[in-house]
Amino acid sequence: MNNEYIMDFDSKNIGKNIYALVKRLFPICRSITGNGVRESLKILKEIIPITTHEIPSGTKVFDWEIPEEWNINDAYILDEEGNKIVDFQKNNLHVAGYSMPINKELDLSELQDHLFSLKELPEAIPYITSYYQKMWGFCISHNQRNKLKKGKYRVFIDSELKKGSLTYGELIIPGKLKKEILLSTYVCHPSMANDNLSGVGVTAFLAKWIANKPRKYTYRFVFIPETIGSITYLSKNWKKMKKNTIAGFNIGCVGDDKSYSFIPSKKGNSLADKVTLSILKSKHPNFNQFSYLERFSDQRQYCSPGIDLPVVSVMRTKYKEFSEYHNSLDNLNFVTANGLYGAFDLLKECLKALENNEKYKIKCLGDPQLGKRGLYPNLSKNGSSDITKDMVNFIGYADGNNDLIDISNIIKVPVWKLYPIVKKLENSNLLTLKE
Ligand code: ZN
Repeated sequence: MNNEYIMDFDSKNIGKNIYALVKRLFPICRSITGNGVRESLKILKEIIPITTHEIPSGTKVFDWEIPEEWNINDAYILDEEGNKIVDFQKNNLHVAGYSMPINKELDLSELQDHLFSLKELPEAIPYITSYYQKMWGFCISHNQRNKLKKGKYRVFIDSELKKGSLTYGELIIPGKLKKEILLSTYVCHPSMANDNLSGVGVTAFLAKWIANKPRKYTYRFVFIPETIGSITYLSKNWKKMKKNTIAGFNIGCVGDDKSYSFIPSKKGNSLADKVTLSILKSKHPNFNQFSYLERFSDQRQYCSPGIDLPVVSVMRTKYKEFSEYHNSLDNLNFVTANGLYGAFDLLKECLKALENNEKYKIKCLGDPQLGKRGLYPNLSKNGSSDITKDMVNFIGYADGNNDLIDISNIIKVPVWKLYPIVKKLENSNLLTLKE
């Protein structure tokens, strides 16, 4: 374990630790396959004991096939005077992901066919990939593109596309029960902080947190390349996951300081939906709720026909809704320690609520006398205190039919405020679990 990260899960300091990890992972050039993913997973292993898996190119995974492995060493464009005007070493977004190797002199008009830029964001370098169609390309700012003079250019890409494998990371943390909670994030994006090193960082620290807690459920943490990675992972594990998963979270774009966003599972009424909505309403009532029709990322695979896992997406500002999305403006200034902390805290509360969620039943018939058990104030100046009021209301619905999250929703008290009430009632031998 690396002592560089101080594990202070209950304070905002955890945001600083997550940010430090994001910063460390930022320069690595990742793609859906290749050494960038391996190097990133190796860094994660310093924090959590993930197992890495290598699935060979050409392996059939459902209706898909693992592509060839892509690696890149260097790339640049030289102008006529030999100046390096575009340099992969300065920003790995400059090369379109999965670009074929090239070393060639060409003129500007031919070069233009291989350039990508964003008219509406002239400062930004776009993030472009072409995994399944062979091509090569450079991504530059629109401002730079406009300044390119007529003449000869040399393009050089030292990349390699060959049979290799797809790499992913997995960590199963066993609990008392076989029933599982899935937390999945994608590790295939190059140097962009919010999409998705934020997700990688928050998920890694959630794993670190839950691994050190007593727990009821088994936790399945998955660090995969987006889409092809979840398809691959599901093709190997879907039967077990379908049998055991009670709630799942797809974690991405969780590092900015702006909003919180939620995409429901396909059915919309799973335990994952219920717990996330309850926590969001209590903590961040102004969150943005999207429809399942706006799903993307690996949630699409986890909820695909026949798989149908109860998986929701939790984000801060939703992908495609921020202008920094998929370009070089999604940098280390766009994510903050505070933003990362907020997402970590939200998901941590979701997991806590799942762990504590039971159908409780008051043991006695009728309303229990709280005063004789020291649970009711003897002298009440302004009526009963809030905690007494919450306890009385909790008891009112603790009939074995409602679980803790239901009661939290009905009595409009955040679920975390009910934990000490449950403890007090249990200590007074007033509460039992529904059989
Ligand atoms: Zn993305």
